[in-house]
Amino acid sequence: MATLELKNIRKSYGATQVIHGIDLDIPSGDFCVFVGPSGCGKSTLLRMIAGLEDITSGAVCIEGEVVNHISAAKRGLAMVFQSYALYPHMSVKANLSFGLENIGMPRAEIEERVMQAARMLQLDQYLTRKPGQLSGGQRQRVAIGRAVVREPKVFLFDEPLSNLDAELRVAMRGEIGDLHRRLGNTMIYVTHDQVEAMTMADKIAVLRDGKLEQYGPPLDLYNAPANRFVAGFIGSPKMNFLPGEFRSGQVHLKAGSAIDATAFAGAGDVELGVRANHLEITDVSDGALVCEVHSAEQLGGETYIYGALSDDTPITLHRPGQVPVRRGEKIGVRVDASVVHLFSMETGASLAT
Ligand code: ADP
Repeated sequence: MATLELKNIRKSYGATQVIHGIDLDIPSGDFCVFVGPSGCGKSTLLRMIAGLEDITSGAVCIEGEVVNHISAAKRGLAMVFQSYALYPHMSVKANLSFGLENIGMPRAEIEERVMQAARMLQLDQYLTRKPGQLSGGQRQRVAIGRAVVREPKVFLFDEPLSNLDAELRVAMRGEIGDLHRRLGNTMIYVTHDQVEAMTMADKIAVLRDGKLEQYGPPLDLYNAPANRFVAGFIGSPKMNFLPGEFRSGQVHLKAGSAIDATAFAGAGDVELGVRANHLEITDVSDGALVCEVHSAEQLGGETYIYGALSDDTPITLHRPGQVPVRRGEKIGVRVDASVVHLFSMETGASLAT
């Protein structure tokens, strides 16, 4: 177990800066997920922590010690890659043992660690097989096992599940979660998938264009996003953003309705953020928002309705049960004002007080 701190970390490739000063404290034993769209700098940041990439400026500290100039092998970290990076000509057992043999660990200790990891990851029946004779999930478990046998202070995962099909991904998420509970190590996990982040993390770090947008427990980010970007990135379906003007405690939406927004401070052009499940269907009457239905997904237990308001703002409603709507139909939409968010149109920052 180990604490990990990033202090004003920057990274440039030539003249191009791609990480712009990131500060992050990851407490010992936490499962921290770095999430963000492709190209936001997640892998670069992880590789700087691992020692696989030079740090342009700032410090990476493990247990309070700056490790910038300590080689990858000596940082006490183990990384699991998306590509598995297994040796195809070696058995599972040899793949698990290889790293330990390389550092000259006594044979008996290697045997004990490998067998323990194999049991934990349910690989004991496959020890003599080659990676080519395993399923994708089993291969990823071998890759994880290879990290486990090293007994690292911190585990680093770089999109480890993106090569697996949807069902297996869900199963492996559970397995990695179990592993974390059993071992109690600090773990950092990189993904572009916000569902993976929401389901696995103790804390999520949302990155965008090499900057940290918000850091906190999943539901804190969902319930109180610091800005429009986090609001739009965390949660599925994506939050609706309705443009309007904020004055005297009310948002006057371009699409026509006025919504009470007393828990916010500021004035001027804003976007009202409202999640799809906080919109109700009402009669089309004076003062109501009117949505023209473009399509609907009837899933039996729930219905998704996609359409546009009178100012052409796209809108998604998520209702429980079966809601009969037709394409082209106009429905009234009521916003639950107690759960809305408000963002400055200019900066995207939340106007919550
Ligand atoms: P992510 O993992 O979030 O998809 P990366 O960390 O891979 O993002 O990349 C962050 C940014 O750094 C991207 O704009 C990418 O093009 C750039 N980048 C990554 N590696 C290099 C490199 N070796 N040389 C130049 N630019 C790079």
